[in-house]
Amino acid sequence: MYRLLVLVCCAAVFGGALATPASAKRHGGSSVTKASFGALPASMGGNAIDRYTLRNDSGMSVSILTYGGIVQELIVPDRRGRKANVTLGFDSIAGYTSAAYAASNPYFGAIIGRYGNRIGGARFTLDGVTYPLDVNNGPNTLHGGFKGFDKNMWTGEAVRTRSSVGVKLTRVSADGEGGFPGRLPVTVVYSLDDRNRLQMDYTATTDKPTVVNLTNHAYFNLAGEGSGSIEGHQLRINADRYTPVDATLIPTGAQDPVAGTPFDFRGFTAIGARIRGNHQQLVYGRGYDHNFVLNPRRGGGLNTAAQLVDPDSGRMLTVLTEEPGLQFYSGNFLDGTLYGTSGRQYRQGDGLCLETQHFPDAPNKPGFASTTLRPGQTYETTTVYAFSTVGGH
Ligand code: BGC
Repeated sequence: MYRLLVLVCCAAVFGGALATPASAKRHGGSSVTKASFGALPASMGGNAIDRYTLRNDSGMSVSILTYGGIVQELIVPDRRGRKANVTLGFDSIAGYTSAAYAASNPYFGAIIGRYGNRIGGARFTLDGVTYPLDVNNGPNTLHGGFKGFDKNMWTGEAVRTRSSVGVKLTRVSADGEGGFPGRLPVTVVYSLDDRNRLQMDYTATTDKPTVVNLTNHAYFNLAGEGSGSIEGHQLRINADRYTPVDATLIPTGAQDPVAGTPFDFRGFTAIGARIRGNHQQLVYGRGYDHNFVLNPRRGGGLNTAAQLVDPDSGRMLTVLTEEPGLQFYSGNFLDGTLYGTSGRQYRQGDGLCLETQHFPDAPNKPGFASTTLRPGQTYETTTVYAFSTVGGH
């Protein structure tokens, strides 16, 4: 069978041309398939779970579950065409529903909603009404509460465009879910094109004023999940400022310069280079667990938020988004209690998240971009995880 030779090299420059596979033309071999991924335990509802697999002509495939919209597997070629699964997860539903998983609650690969990251004091006030929320992280709400979008069933439907294959996931978040007001129908479309770009298009509407902040919680290890630490990965973040936090990881409201701090990722820097420093913010986060204020892109459109490179394999991830912020989380709470898809233990720093978002606690921070959604408005946002390779020529 004829196989595409995917040769990639790049000049990794913010705002410059994105490196893409040299041959991105379509050969008609891309597909979207659906298979069973078992069922939730009876105690969690017993629902049957489907796994949609999107496959392209350039060596990539992505598998997504109708439980939590979880990106369960992400197969990406390295600079020599060798494939690896670069996202943390499990090979069966038991992994996502175990007691150990619930205890450490890492949100592997899931859609996060209604509100990505924390809301301080687990409450917010909108139009003079105060809404108490689930208190599920210290005194705060994290990732939508006890049963956020990550722990709910979604309805899946295969979709195709001329240039991509995908799955459209829908669910309705009930009025009052997790304490949030408004009935919220939500759609998330994952699509994969032949340029190795995984795109996520989020839309939502509401029948009452509410707040919305959706993201994806994939953990990346570009050397392959279960292969060890990501501290040798090189990271670049397109941000001059970040939002420092208090001891419970709620932003203080400041937007501090990264210059001269371990948060300066404006040039490629190894994640491990400064992570053990005693900067107060790293102490609070047990490493990196901070929102970066993305430098806006002139002219709008998708902004390059970050680039991540594994120097050994040459795999590179470029994160493009319409969102104003990026949570860089260095997998600090992976505590060795979980064994992933390849059967290996996940320890602290064995994966990292780059979550595109509005800022944490924005509903309580008038200085942060608003996350309010009102009846008649449509929440719409797009993020792309674009894969390519560097070096080796
Ligand atoms: C948060 C971390 C949290 C993690 C859960 C991240 O988005 O910023 O503080 O521990 O999600 O796995």
